[in-house]
Amino acid sequence: MSNQSPCPHISGCEMFTQFKLSDSLAVWKLRYCEDDYERCARFQRTCQGHPVPATLLPNGQLLRK
Ligand code: SF4
Repeated sequence: MSNQSPCPHISGCEMFTQFKLSDSLAVWKLRYCEDDYERCARFQRTCQGHPVPATLLPNGQLLRK
């Protein structure tokens, strides 16, 4: 179910900054940050008070360079 509102963590999210700068990563921004952020592993970990790895993607996998 879509929230249809942007993620409230956008301003402090390192990964969102990368999504904005890279065309190949922009799909994450559309699918999670601007649509269904409650599914995002980064959002969930932050809400639970867990540390968030810098390269953690919304689907729970780590971004490879
Ligand atoms: S990556 Fe996750 S926590 Fe970061 S802005 Fe997008 S939805 Fe929010």
